[in-house]
Amino acid sequence: MIPAPFAYARPTTVDEALQAVADGGDDVKLLAGGQSLIPVMRLRLAAPEIVVDLGRIPELRGVREDGDSLVIGAMTTHADVLADPLIARYGRLVAEATETVADRQVRRRGTFGGALAHADPAGDLPAVALALDAEFVLAGPGGRRTVGAGDFFVDYLTTAMDDGELLVEVRVPKLGDEWGVRYEKFNRVAQAWSIVAVAAAVRREGGRIADARIGLTNMGATPLRASATEAALVGADVSLDAVTAAAALAADGTSPSSDLNAQADYRQHLAQVLTRRAVVAAAGL
Ligand SMILES: Cc1cc2nc3c(=O)[nH]c(=O)nc-3n(C[C@H](O)[C@H](O)[C@H](O)COP(=O)(O)OP(=O)(O)OC[C@H]3O[C@@H](n4cnc5c(N)ncnc54)[C@H](O)[C@@H]3O)c2cc1C
Repeated sequence: MIPAPFAYARPTTVDEALQAVADGGDDVKLLAGGQSLIPVMRLRLAAPEIVVDLGRIPELRGVREDGDSLVIGAMTTHADVLADPLIARYGRLVAEATETVADRQVRRRGTFGGALAHADPAGDLPAVALALDAEFVLAGPGGRRTVGAGDFFVDYLTTAMDDGELLVEVRVPKLGDEWGVRYEKFNRVAQAWSIVAVAAAVRREGGRIADARIGLTNMGATPLRASATEAALVGADVSLDAVTAAAALAADGTSPSSDLNAQADYRQHLAQVLTRRAVVAAAGL
């Protein structure tokens, strides 16, 4: 099918975009890479009256450093994230997850911010953002505000962004060489969405685990932290036994869906297996 007719605005600044959204009334949609929005418009599951294209706003693109953070512009494409030297140096968990997103064509057009704003629990980047305690910078009619990842993902395909707001950039902590990372994704065929995936970042100090951050993809309506596993890892020996025991707690408190790809109990089993694999790799075991 082809989309229902819509008006189109192509602002060149964030302020112009906010104005276009305000002028658009109730039925306005922001367009980033279009990899999720255009398919639903073609199916006429969405039929906005006006589409505001963010593709010509330079401020929304690129990766920069700000103190201990990497700041990733919302309109930075997955391909540009993967090519960025700062991401290669300090954002390896973001890079590992981004490499598993779809195929080259989708990664060429799809954007970092679009994937997060879409908030699909099967998407690979929300769990990474949550594990890293990323901060989301939102612009709206009243100015800018920052929302932590723990508050940003509210429900299935739902974020804390208010009507009239847009995502400008995302701040993630720089992870230096003292951190090991791994994104473990399970899917039936290559280049497909995660049935379950685990994002792990582990910091070792001597023979112990000093810090552990674990994000779970597709284990509920939003991305989740494997909090019980994190608590069990901190202070534990860097050993297979300790990691295996901690990973057995990975599905605690989760409520994954049952669907054509997997039953809920199978997803919970996968979460444990993938968490063990991810932490073993991140801890360098
Ligand atoms: C065949 C295929 C396979 C895919 N496989 C995967 C996969 O394996 N893993 C994965 O994680 N993803 C996958 N994706 C999705 C991909 O990551 C998309 O890039 C992403 O979901 C949406 O990003 P986008 O830039 O295309 O956003 P769009 O489709 O343009 O927008 C998505 C939604 O976010 C909103 N939005 C976008 N940008 C902003 C902003 N700055 N502020 C506020 N709201 C905004 C839009 O209004 C829209 O509601 C796949 C997509 C396709 C087509």
